[in-house]
Amino acid sequence: MLDLLYMEAFLGFNVMEVIGAAVLLFVVVAILKRVFGRKVNTDHMIQLSCKCGWDGQVSKYTRRCPKCNGTI
Ligand SMILES: [Zn+2]
Repeated sequence: MLDLLYMEAFLGFNVMEVIGAAVLLFVVVAILKRVFGRKVNTDHMIQLSCKCGWDGQVSKYTRRCPKCNGTI
């Protein structure tokens, strides 16, 4: 609480504004992680193996091998 009071005096922010901004930032980050994290990891990526011997996850829209740069 001493830190917040010091911040108010030093930067001119209201304590409730600082707490509100922190909570808002936390919520936005949590939502973004949920939305983008899940899509990148599961929806757009598929497990494939290439004829050059490489295998791993690629985007199912591009389907391009990162090793030989050929279409899988
Ligand atoms: Zn390849």
